[in-house]
Amino acid sequence: MVSDCIFCKIAAGEIESTRVYEDDRCIAFEDLNPQAPTHLLVIPREHISSMDEAEEGHKELLGHLLFTAAEIAREKGFAGRGYRTVINTNSAGGQTVFHLHVHLLGGRQFVFPPG
Ligand code: 5GP
Ligand code: ZN
Repeated sequence: MVSDCIFCKIAAGEIESTRVYEDDRCIAFEDLNPQAPTHLLVIPREHISSMDEAEEGHKELLGHLLFTAAEIAREKGFAGRGYRTVINTNSAGGQTVFHLHVHLLGGRQFVFPPG
């Protein structure tokens, strides 16, 4: 737990969020400023600042975050139509909250490349 990290506080329940899934390693909750009809954030309970801080020992956890996003998309019923997972890394990558998170966006058409 990093005391000045918003997402650590959300994981600890110290800041409110609308949780849609949780287990021993991660939680998923609604983004405060949704960019699609469904916009969730899947975060590890462990504080990892960004993909730039990911280590060998995080490989399984990183896979778990992506697999969890895929399971949620299936469960919510938009997986077949399609969806977007995004991990922004550091400043040029558009990252604003420095606790690693997977954006899961669904319910509309996405274009590539993203902005
Ligand atoms: P990033 O820009 O770092 O990839 O994504 C950060 C995301 O966190 C943004 O989409 C932003 O709307 C969301 N966010 C920032 N603060 C909060 C918060 O306090 N609660 C929730 N639920 N989402 C937040
Ligand atoms: Zn954190």
